[in-house]
Formats: sequence, structure tokens, C-alpha cells
Amino acid sequence: MLKDEKAVVVFSGGQDSTTCLFWAREQFREVEAVTFDYGQRHRLEIECAKGIAAELGVKLTVLDMSLLGQLTQNALTRSDIPIVHEEGALPSTFVEGRNHLFLSFAAVLAKGVGARHLVTGVCETDFSGYPDCRDAFVKSLNVTLNLAMDYEFVIHTPLMWIDKAQTWKLADDLGAFDFVRERTLTCYNGIIGDGCGECPACKLRRAGMEAYLQTRGAGKEDRR
Ligand SMILES: [Zn+2]
Repeated sequence: MLKDEKAVVVFSGGQDSTTCLFWAREQFREVEAVTFDYGQRHRLEIECAKGIAAELGVKLTVLDMSLLGQLTQNALTRSDIPIVHEEGALPSTFVEGRNHLFLSFAAVLAKGVGARHLVTGVCETDFSGYPDCRDAFVKSLNVTLNLAMDYEFVIHTPLMWIDKAQTWKLADDLGAFDFVRERTLTCYNGIIGDGCGECPACKLRRAGMEAYLQTRGAGKEDRR
């Protein structure tokens, strides 16, 4: 049934949302993507997203969310604030309510293009403390958006309950392992692909990939 419908993917050009983009292309008749320009420390992130969307033939809308910089001071938008993640505290990359805002704007855009399906790569498993990445929040927002716009949105979160290793497996199952590995930008230091190897994002990404490659190496018969 979903094959007849249209979806909008919240897309950053990173591993998670690129995997979601491949997932959505399998699930829906038509897929668009939306990227948010909020004054990211690395402008390359936007260019990376544009390049991937163009290569996959996916229409991409870049929305100006530079107002986020007026609302908050953090390491993603302020180059003078270092990236730190202390145990039990929110990482310094946190933009309060960011996913809430992004999903809400994506919903307005989606309704405008006749899409009731929204896809986001948020995940509770590698939970960094972002409250608006949690499943309860997404379900709550789904209801709110439906009431706000009198529409039957369905927010899809294919990564919600899987870890980074399983996200690599999903990309592989979608035939996109090499593409995701080589073309996406996760690194906080702005290095596409395997990244700098030192920042928290690179460490998480690499640990997941190595864990997945070990299971893959264990034999194809283990794979579904
Ligand atoms: Zn890095």
C-alpha cells in the first residue's frame, strides 16, 4: 500500500539519514528530501546532502533554519565552543528542540507536496540524551501534527530500535553499504567517508561498522 504513496525524508547527508533515504526509496512510490541549513559548523554537510540527493535523483529542498543560531549557543553552530560529551550530560552539540522543529517544518513541507509520510533517522538505541529523538516524543508529535494540520501523517523511524551495527546491516541489505560508507558525512571535523577517526561521531560510526563487518565476515548464511 505504501508503494503508492509519497514520503519526505529528513536528510542531513549523514550515515543515518542516507540509510533512511535508501530505505524510503524501497518503501514508497516517490521520495523527496529536506535538509536544514542552520549555520552548521561545516557547510560541507549541506553540499554533501545536495550531492547525494542529486546522484540518487531525489528532489531536495534546503530550508533556512539559521534562526536556530539566535536561539542557542552550541558546538555545532559556534566554532569557538568545543565538542565535549561528559558522562550523563547532554553533548555540547545539542540544539534544544532541534528534531522537534525539523520534523514540524518537514511536515508542513510534506503536506504541501502531497506527502503524508515522514521519515527520520532518529534513534533511541545510541541515545545521546536528546529527548526529541525518543519514540514517545515522535509518537506524540505525530498526533500533534495530525491535529495541527488536519492530516494523516505517519512518521517512520526505521532506525529507532537498532544500533549502529544494525544500521550498517540495513544499509548493506539495501545494497547501499559502500555508498553510505564513502559518501556520507558524520564526522564533526568535516571529513567525508571514514572521517577523522577521532571525534565522538567517528568513533561511534567506526565501532558500529567494525561490529557489523565481524558478523558479516562470519558467513553469509547468518544473514537474512
Ligand atoms: Zn571525525
